[in-house]
Amino acid sequence: MSTPELKQFGELDPEDFQRQAVWIGCHTADYDEPWYEDTDEETFRPYTGKLPADPSEGMLLVRAVIELNDGSQYLGFVTPGVGLGTQQPQIFVDDRRFGFWGGMAGVSEQAQQELYSALRKRPDAILPLRFRADSGLTTDEIEGQVEGFYKKSRDGIHVSFTPWRNLTDVPSAGAQWFQMSSRSHRGYPQPEKGFEYLKIVYEEPCLRCGIFERQKAPFRFKKASGSPAGFTQLTWVYDAFFAPPNVVEEIMSAGISGLSPGPAVFHPSGKECSDRVQLLIPTAISCVETSLLQTVTCQPANEEARAIRALFVKQPSSPRKSFSPELEEHFRKQRERLAAIPYCGRVKHHPPTSIALIPDHLKGAPDLFRSEEWFGSGGCAFRLIFALERFSNLVQERRWRGLEFHVAAQSGFSERQSS
Ligand SMILES: [Zn+2]
Repeated sequence: MSTPELKQFGELDPEDFQRQAVWIGCHTADYDEPWYEDTDEETFRPYTGKLPADPSEGMLLVRAVIELNDGSQYLGFVTPGVGLGTQQPQIFVDDRRFGFWGGMAGVSEQAQQELYSALRKRPDAILPLRFRADSGLTTDEIEGQVEGFYKKSRDGIHVSFTPWRNLTDVPSAGAQWFQMSSRSHRGYPQPEKGFEYLKIVYEEPCLRCGIFERQKAPFRFKKASGSPAGFTQLTWVYDAFFAPPNVVEEIMSAGISGLSPGPAVFHPSGKECSDRVQLLIPTAISCVETSLLQTVTCQPANEEARAIRALFVKQPSSPRKSFSPELEEHFRKQRERLAAIPYCGRVKHHPPTSIALIPDHLKGAPDLFRSEEWFGSGGCAFRLIFALERFSNLVQERRWRGLEFHVAAQSGFSERQSS
């Protein structure tokens, strides 16, 4: 069997479900297949078995009808199973996709508002909504009701929705800025083992917190993309975007400022990739309001280490397991190795779920720029990328895939809705 069409979860769009009613997760279903190496937990392919599909065959995504409270119907998809946490119904509105199950983090107020504005409906016209998988697709009947946006916590599942507020009423200093992110992440920067790429790609990377001085060399890829034309990102690297060379040329000839194409190369050959270039975004501006965001300082016993310790103190301690002398020796060496990694003292913030910018700092900003502030937790660190609406309009107009734009407020505070 030749390699099927592989799609990352975030890339699945309405057309995919129009032509193919059932998709199956490759990571569990294709373990013995030659393309398994190209997949991860997020990769799906068209389901080719006999219908109705049996949910025990793997992780299925099944085309569904979403009927809003006002009776209007939309295309969507669900996963067979019991409970909303498994079914996780998704609705397509134009080219965009929205979900209602937010897991521990919940669904941000901004995402809720964006659903309302995409539908051009108030919450009471939308919720409660019903969903129903197309009949004959799976052996289980799947239907249910969504009352709002769901969030899981230690004491159970909470349902709520925020009242409608007109985003265009927010006073703005003229232009509208968007935070730009990728719909999906595919592949790992090479060499991925031991995060070795950090030292190759960046000047003065910190192996503890992930912050670096600047990019000094191209990202290295494992293989040709073979993916549809559009924007992509690598896993772990949230502030570098890649696109086919002709797309970047079109962006530049449309007069968009603040970017230039940079090479991407294959590993280990070092040969330049012809199917993609990096969008280099050289302008960095200190522009994100961060006063309410949790800081993470790169130092021993930092904010995150203290939070984890506090969590453990509350739990009764269990007697420590003992291991073989060889294993104990191995752990001791590991601890020594980790303890030897230096701290850089730099500060990042937990990433906000709704972003506020400082408009005074943005005068004369190009169409694309990144924040000078760092975000992330643990060993992960990245800058936020912003685009003026001129760029998001161009992306929509040309129907380029792979990017998401979230409105960044120009007053108030950046906030993180935590679990
Ligand atoms: Zn550091």
